[in-house]
Amino acid sequence: MSEMKPTPKSTILVTGGAGYIGSHAVLALQDAGYDVLVLDNLVYGHRELIEQTLQVQLIVGDMGDRALLDQLFARYKPAAVMHFAAYAYVGESVTNPAKYYRNNLVNTLTLLEAMVAANINKLVFSSTCATYGIPKTIPLPEDHPQNPINPYGATKLMVERLLADFDTAYGLKSVCFRYFNAAGADPLGRLGEDHNPETHLIPLVLQTALGKRDAISVFGTDYPTPDGTCIRDYIHVADLAVAHVLGLDYLLNGGDSTAFNLGNGNGFSVKQVIEAARHITGQPISVIECERRPGDPPALVGSSERARTVLGWQPQYDDLHTIIRHAWSWHQQRHGSTQGNIVRG
Ligand code: UDP
Repeated sequence: MSEMKPTPKSTILVTGGAGYIGSHAVLALQDAGYDVLVLDNLVYGHRELIEQTLQVQLIVGDMGDRALLDQLFARYKPAAVMHFAAYAYVGESVTNPAKYYRNNLVNTLTLLEAMVAANINKLVFSSTCATYGIPKTIPLPEDHPQNPINPYGATKLMVERLLADFDTAYGLKSVCFRYFNAAGADPLGRLGEDHNPETHLIPLVLQTALGKRDAISVFGTDYPTPDGTCIRDYIHVADLAVAHVLGLDYLLNGGDSTAFNLGNGNGFSVKQVIEAARHITGQPISVIECERRPGDPPALVGSSERARTVLGWQPQYDDLHTIIRHAWSWHQQRHGSTQGNIVRG
């Protein structure tokens, strides 16, 4: 029998690894055999997920801290960086743009400069379909014009631009993933979505099912869609995480800088999501019909053909019911014990 030779594991620095998508990516990296180091300022991240659940090393600090980055890079010599750290509340980005440009853009510039200085030239970047703005065609392909309609999307697009320029100037190679609506939770229940404040549809619907909210507000029922509510492309966070590992492998194998959409190519309306959640939770889930939320395009659905073709990505959980079921298991486990504790808003 031939003997298996142990292969040395590369170390990957994950910024924002204590957040929702970042923590699922850490899990996928571990499953793929990488050593992981997390840098997170814990403004929104969860320490216990990293230290207890995932048991990886957490450096609490800011990616705008150049001296810290220089130390980290010299000490751990990561082969690549996976960059999730960012503020991601669209509404807040409109009322407090400076917070978004400072963190998402300026601090990313510091990270990129530190990478160049340390000769680390591979980065997987967490971008967003919000860089496209109002779609001209559905499903959206990667070469659709990018005209973001809020500062959050603008900061992500500016980083994509920085990355293109850093490739030309310094040979820094990057993969940008433009996500549609990340949802769901680790299928084994180890991780899930826990934003504070929570603004996303599926967790808010499930909090309503748990009795933590009186009702779910539906933002707009007069959109030009079949039932009048907005249509989105919900993608399982575990499928997103696996795509990041494939993107990393692509770069480590010498791939050129590029961008991929990550969605399922299927759109579901707000009312369809609520109906599916009623079915899964067995709860009535009261609804309040409200005005439109500013900045919401009527429909966002992505084509991820490129990720499938180039990376060989195959989403495992592309069915809305499975996505909501996994999210529901996580919510019950994480938040179910304090039933009756109503949060209004
Ligand atoms: N939405 C809603 N009520 C809520 C939260 C969201 O009707 O309490 C709608 C929102 O207007 C959008 C869809 O649900 O059409 C998905 O919103 P979410 O904030 O989850 O993601 P986004 O599409 O903004 O990234």
